[in-house]
Formats: sequence, structure tokens, C-alpha cells
Amino acid sequence: MYIISACLMGENCKYNGGNNETRWVKELAERHRHVLVCPEVSGGLPVPRVPVEIVNGRAINQVGEDVTMQFRRGCELEWQRIEEKLKEWGEPIQGAVLKAKSPSCGKNQIYDGSFTHTLTEGDGFFAAFLREKGINIISEKEQIVEE
Ligand code: SF4
Repeated sequence: MYIISACLMGENCKYNGGNNETRWVKELAERHRHVLVCPEVSGGLPVPRVPVEIVNGRAINQVGEDVTMQFRRGCELEWQRIEEKLKEWGEPIQGAVLKAKSPSCGKNQIYDGSFTHTLTEGDGFFAAFLREKGINIISEKEQIVEE
């Protein structure tokens, strides 16, 4: 089974009310069991919402509010759902396909907290959370090639 960022599947859960639908991710999802996640919405943030970047390890939105608690809660709640599916399906997690650059889902590269579209090294909260659990993460910029 795969964990997939819901916005990559076309769900309008992005901060601006849109999505990041990505064809190869949808095709992968047709062939495998998957759990769709949106840790920001699960953590209690609305759609649309004020953009968030990571500043000194905290999730801070563009008007200066600290939403770290919601980000962390979203990670925990999504993991609970994933664990339920693990039990129900009895399948290992093959990987997580997560939206690049997001303060939650971004892997290796995120915005630097200046809200100037400047990238820096680092993981989003949810990507870091899954990485600690040893889950293989790829972004929609990469692609899983199956035989
Ligand atoms: Fe939700 Fe992650 Fe997509 Fe942001 S990148 S909208 S947190 S699924």
C-alpha cells in the first residue's frame, strides 16, 4: 500500500483551495491500495488557509500565527488512519508519494520561512514524521517505475 498526498490525486485541499493533480500518481493509485492524506486539513486547518512556511522548526503562517500544534496533530491523526488500514489490509507500506516543497509533505526541500519563494534544505512536518518511521518517500517530481 501507498500513502499519497490527497492534493496529488485532485482533492482541493491546498492552501488556496486548489489541487496538484498529477497523472502518474493517479495511475499508481489505480494499481495499488492507498491511503490519501492531508495532514494540514486533518490537523484542523481550513481550506482555503493562510500559507505556512517553517521558521526555526515551527509552522508559522504568513500573518505570523503559529500553527505548529495543528501540523503535529495532523501527523498523528493521519498516522492513526494509516495504522488502521495496515491492520485491515495486512499489507506493508511500499512508500509515500508526497507533494514537493510543502511545509507538511515536502521532502528534502521546503520554503525557507521568508515567504519569498526561496527554497532551502529540509523536510515538511509530515515527511519528517514518516521518515522517522523508516518509510520511503518520493515526491511527485520523481516517479515510481513499475515492471
Ligand atoms: Fe495537504 Fe500535503 Fe497537499 Fe498540503 S501538500 S494540501 S498538506 S496533502
